[in-house]
Amino acid sequence: MLADKDRIFTNVYGFQPWNLDSAVMRGDWDNTRALLQLGPDTIIDRIKASGLRGRGGAGFPTGTKWSFMPKAPKPDRPNFLVINADESEPGSCKDREIIRHDPHKLIEGALVAGFAMRARAAYIYIRGEYIREAETLFAAIAEAYAKGLLGKNACGSGYDFDVFAHRGAGAYICGEETAMLESLEGKKGQPRLKPPFPAGAGLYGCPTTVNNVESIAVVPTILRRSPEWFASFGNENNKGTKLFQISGHVNRPCVVEEAMSIPFRELIEKHCGGIRGGWDNLLCVIPGGSSVPLVKAEHIIDAPMDFDGLKAVGSGLGTAAVIVMDKSTDVVRAISRLSYFYKHESCGQCTPCREGTGWMWRVMERLRTGDADISEIDTLHQVTKQVEGHTICALGDAAAWPIQGLIKNFRPEIERRIHEKRGGGASSMQEAAE
Ligand code: SF4
Repeated sequence: MLADKDRIFTNVYGFQPWNLDSAVMRGDWDNTRALLQLGPDTIIDRIKASGLRGRGGAGFPTGTKWSFMPKAPKPDRPNFLVINADESEPGSCKDREIIRHDPHKLIEGALVAGFAMRARAAYIYIRGEYIREAETLFAAIAEAYAKGLLGKNACGSGYDFDVFAHRGAGAYICGEETAMLESLEGKKGQPRLKPPFPAGAGLYGCPTTVNNVESIAVVPTILRRSPEWFASFGNENNKGTKLFQISGHVNRPCVVEEAMSIPFRELIEKHCGGIRGGWDNLLCVIPGGSSVPLVKAEHIIDAPMDFDGLKAVGSGLGTAAVIVMDKSTDVVRAISRLSYFYKHESCGQCTPCREGTGWMWRVMERLRTGDADISEIDTLHQVTKQVEGHTICALGDAAAWPIQGLIKNFRPEIERRIHEKRGGGASSMQEAAE
């Protein structure tokens, strides 16, 4: 288990105030000027050496991403950092805890990361529903300006850097990086076709890097404590500590910082008091937020909770939003509800997603009630394959994968419902049992 001395987020439960004085006592803003004096290239090299991978879901190496930004921005085309705080993935709630209890970690991280990528300013795009969190964020930014930590000559470093907080309006798709840029520019939040990638033409057509809140908030601590310290946690290629958000049928749902690659069973036993009704009662787990496929109990129990470990069991770490389902769950209904979510949040730009998400949800609903033909299970699977990878952004994949996971792992249960509805003979599950 991760020792308290190795935690980056020491106020994740809000036992202390979020304000600047308390943040300073926790070690934030401690000689930030010295961090900036390392120089942009050294900071990027150290973040690369730490092995930090993006915490928003894709897991792209953070230092490498920063290195794509122009080293000599033109005066009329400044570099920008955009911080994605639009946390809307069902199951995800870690960025919220950072912003409401430890906002100065994020703001200091914005300055250091922005400096490293030679950005003129950072925009923090915060989810519309996070009303109190946005209030805290605005107040924390004002505190930092009042103390000279941001703005002209930030922290006495000679570097001018601004941080702006921008509130979203509640659309899930604005968490997609290019839709976020459109929304920041005041337009309808719809994803852009790539290329060009944001590092070439992003916000207002200028070079831009979009990073997740957690990826930015850990940066000052990594630089202070050394990349080697951060890289000492987790398996190869999956380094560092991570905020896990465990919800569903565990005895104590929580958000907790742990070492990457911790086995699933250990994570749940140590921090959540085990599975409701005991381990034999575990049905399946969605380990990375609603857009990754579910994993059956027997496959996840000993899996390392990291990018590669969860990929090996056919799923993904995503945002590490671990949704636990016990045997009382109607798993077909659960996935159908997720299908409705994606149908509702599709921006409608591309046909496979606009039409496919609605189509998949309607079939899922009929599978839920058993009002379907057995052959429709395969048809549905084929349609998910036609949506996956054929859309502008990853929402199409996100809508397809949970259904694929359901069919792969729980096909007998789907068939049982259809047989039962027809009143026709033994279900395949019974047959399998016999
Ligand atoms: Fe919009 Fe869906 Fe296409 Fe993404 S995949 S751009 S959400 S229609």
